[in-house]
Amino acid sequence: MAPESPADRRRALPSVDRLVRALARAAPELPDWALREGARRALGAAREALGAGAELPADPLADRLAAARAEAAALARSHPQRVVNATGVVLHTNLGRAPLADEAARAVAEAASGYSDLELELAPGTRGDRLAGVSRLLCLLSGAEAALAVNNTAAAVMLAVAALARGREVVVSRGELVEIGGSFRVPEILAQAGVRMVEVGTTNRTHPEDVRRALGPETGLILKVHRSNFEQRGFVAEVELAELVAIGRAHGVPVVEDLGSGTLVDLRARGLPPETFVPARLATGVDLVCFSGDKLLGGPQAGIALGRVPVVEAMRRSPLARALRLDKLSLAALDWTLRALLEGRSEEIPVLRQLLEPAEAVERRARALARRLEKVAGRALAIGLEATRAPVGGGSIPGFELDSHAVALRGAGSAPVLAARLRAARPPVVARVADDRVLLDARTLLPGDDVRVEAALTQALAPGAQSRGAPRI
Ligand SMILES: *Cc1c(COP(=O)(O)O)cnc(C)c1O
Repeated sequence: MAPESPADRRRALPSVDRLVRALARAAPELPDWALREGARRALGAAREALGAGAELPADPLADRLAAARAEAAALARSHPQRVVNATGVVLHTNLGRAPLADEAARAVAEAASGYSDLELELAPGTRGDRLAGVSRLLCLLSGAEAALAVNNTAAAVMLAVAALARGREVVVSRGELVEIGGSFRVPEILAQAGVRMVEVGTTNRTHPEDVRRALGPETGLILKVHRSNFEQRGFVAEVELAELVAIGRAHGVPVVEDLGSGTLVDLRARGLPPETFVPARLATGVDLVCFSGDKLLGGPQAGIALGRVPVVEAMRRSPLARALRLDKLSLAALDWTLRALLEGRSEEIPVLRQLLEPAEAVERRARALARRLEKVAGRALAIGLEATRAPVGGGSIPGFELDSHAVALRGAGSAPVLAARLRAARPPVVARVADDRVLLDARTLLPGDDVRVEAALTQALAPGAQSRGAPRI
């Protein structure tokens, strides 16, 4: 007999229909579309593997059933789903940056589940401005003349640049041509906004004279960009915002700052770097400051632009404004967040609470969690406490870390595998691995997370965890 060819081996696989029928018996709780798509994917993967020379498993149906079930279960899970952030990184980009306060989330649900006066003036019954309310709150909080909120900071910067300098030149330091994770790169944003970038200075040093020399009849604006995710040390010089403002004034050129991350309450005395306080940036006389709603502000994804009336008006009138506008759900969350700040309830905002919680309080919470987990782990794990340093993260304050405390889990095989099993639990717990231990940092645990972590660890250590698709320890 001729040796079995890949085509023969592929023919030995079950058909999609047969696999779907077996799946429906094994996992009746999963929806039909997920079963069918899961079966298709599991068979596709097997065909590819056989084509590449893999052996046919002893029982192809059972083998594909397990793979298809895992695929179908993953497809059937909603996305994004709630996870526990035990990384200690307050603004974790992959975990959705700022969590909203429960009350802010309720405001979102309220705006989402019914009609609202989003663009209606109730008293006269005439058309209203969706942003009038948050603009007023932003001006009250910051002292700005005018305010605008759009989809995110990238949108705010692009809108500002396009509105002020389309077809003209934008002067920016070579030390500030930054990339903020993924798709935000200053040169590309400027190109998309339809301006010509004029780079000044060098990577490490830019002087006021470099900026002055670059100004001319074609200059539309001077842009300053915060180095949110890296630091420069050594032989470095940058032109401070106040200095740029003086240069801009002298030449009649507007100055815009992409601050990235900022707060509207003064946390400088609590250890936050001075440049994060937006009202102080505005006090320099800068024409516009742009920053994120879901970084240090602690609200929803949004790009907030604060500054002088003519600049904000030019942005509002730009044809791009509609494409970049804030949706009503984010607006509801932003409105709640700004009111909380205005009313001195900043401790109700999770990001601010996490940033301001004293290290001793974090340690107490870590200790309580350790006791809770000791009961679950029994003799399977060694559980201890460790002092850690928690970075704020999210491209906000590079090099700035908070003293924190973590529960350290040791034993039961390799630490990366235990971490993977915690991620596979319901709800998933995302932890940090350091050498041979899994660290659960208490600083970023939200109220109720201790119970969630306990449930996840129980699942991760359960004898059946492996057969349910959790990684092998
Ligand atoms: C984070 C950041 C951005 C991007 O903000 P998004 O709100 O995610 O668009 C832009 N510029 C700077 C300096 C940043 O730190």
